[in-house]
Amino acid sequence: MTVSDMTALIKELRHIVGEPNVLADPEDCQCYGFDASRLKGCPECVVFPANTQEVAAIIRLANRNRTPVFPRGAGSGMVGGAIANRRGLALVLTRMNQIFEIDADNMLAVVQPGVVTAMLQERARQLGLFYPPDPASLKFSTLGGNVAMGAGGPRALKYGVTRDYVLSLQVVLPTGSQIRTGTRTAKGVVGYDLTRLMVGSEGTLGIFTELVLRLIPAPQCTRTLSVLFADLDEACRAVNAILKQRVVPSTIELMDRETLRVVDRYLQLGLPAEAEAMLLIEVDGRPSEVDQDLRTIEQTCNRSTPMELRIAHTEAERELLWRARRSVSPALGKISSGKINEDVTVPRSEIAALIQFTRTLARKHHLTIVCFGHAGDGNIHTNIMLDRDNQDELTRAEHAVEELFCRVLELGGTISGEHGIGIAKSPFLEWELGSEGVAAMWRIKQALDPLDILNPGKMFQPDRAFFRP
Ligand SMILES: Cc1cc2nc3c(=O)[nH]c(=O)nc-3n(C[C@H](O)[C@H](O)[C@H](O)COP(=O)(O)OP(=O)(O)OC[C@H]3O[C@@H](n4cnc5c(N)ncnc54)[C@H](O)[C@@H]3O)c2cc1C
Repeated sequence: MTVSDMTALIKELRHIVGEPNVLADPEDCQCYGFDASRLKGCPECVVFPANTQEVAAIIRLANRNRTPVFPRGAGSGMVGGAIANRRGLALVLTRMNQIFEIDADNMLAVVQPGVVTAMLQERARQLGLFYPPDPASLKFSTLGGNVAMGAGGPRALKYGVTRDYVLSLQVVLPTGSQIRTGTRTAKGVVGYDLTRLMVGSEGTLGIFTELVLRLIPAPQCTRTLSVLFADLDEACRAVNAILKQRVVPSTIELMDRETLRVVDRYLQLGLPAEAEAMLLIEVDGRPSEVDQDLRTIEQTCNRSTPMELRIAHTEAERELLWRARRSVSPALGKISSGKINEDVTVPRSEIAALIQFTRTLARKHHLTIVCFGHAGDGNIHTNIMLDRDNQDELTRAEHAVEELFCRVLELGGTISGEHGIGIAKSPFLEWELGSEGVAAMWRIKQALDPLDILNPGKMFQPDRAFFRP
């Protein structure tokens, strides 16, 4: 686009959303040129719409000018999904941050996409209701971003992920027309399930401007315990043994040997050197059920001779048990200047095999690999630690990632349980879906976005220039 075309476009954008809601100064635009992936792509201008009509008008204008549009929430994505890899406009939805309605009778919320996840959770909690999806970024990521990425968190085992709470969406399509998918009712089977198509579409098929989200009754209480094992297989077997006792904890977090060592050094916990794995387990519900579940978990874990089992009796003790898990990120920050954080997911029965494989990879490529995550749903965050200035180490780490993905697929898993594809994982999309699977998805994209206006170069069409920095 020429400078004069861009100047004319900015003028029209200012007409749509008002002068202060368009940024065109390159220094301002830089602030919207990255996300949590460390990939970079600076937009030519940044626009902040206030409602669906403004979003639709911007998209129609972008179509007329053949200008790429990059939808953006809080920019906390891990795969470069919100960055402007082809210049164009960053469409930032954070001004659209109203909770329009909490319907306690029908247990649903109607919200704009820019609402921060934790804010909806807090409003629901005040009414005795619960919005369970809990990405670790919930204090800053937006609901629109969560829906676009199909975000999940530790509670997925019992409560599911964002996808399971989306009833209906108002969507501005890439051509500028508007549709409403789904219904406000629990049941509804009219036509294709476009809501499911939109969830996890990573800003490539439409812009969500209003979300109807399902709420559920809030659990009355939560109890927490931690269990330390001298054997990884034993820890993984304990997870399945608990579930076989018909207890579904809200959370089962696992930290492997390497993670425990790093956290122990950081917090000076004095963990035994032989510790191979720790499980952090939470149960929630009615007090009588929760106490019974806790007893069952304790008995089940004790059958496998753990090194230590601790139950929190107070909120302060609960916080103490969570301390090790919550300290993983800062502790990792102390041992390396960078890391590649993969969110691979395998069937629960293969978690031990996955972690053992990462140990083989670490030895083969002379790397430190740290595994922790959600043992209940098989989503194990595999962190390859590296010095970002060491090109040789980066190359070895990238080879390790490719071998990891191959092994995960052999184990019946997926290369992304939470973070999505974006730019970072686009070269590997076909590994999981096959060429026909990718081609079918691309045909859907072309049908809805014939000019490839919305978030181009994401998910499909790997663009080498934007791979890992
Ligand atoms: C410290 C940290 C912890 C994290 N923990 C988790 C975790 O536990 N689980 C997890 O799943 N993820 C996690 N993430 C990743 C990230 O927070 C999620 O992917 C989140 O859903 C992104 O929300 P966002 O508002 O930041 O979206 P952005 O990063 O701004 O955008 C993400 C994608 O959504 C699209 N998009 C945004 N808004 C809309 C909209 N209204 N309509 C259409 N498309 C839109 C964008 O185009 C982009 O492709 C974590 C990230 C960080 C930095």
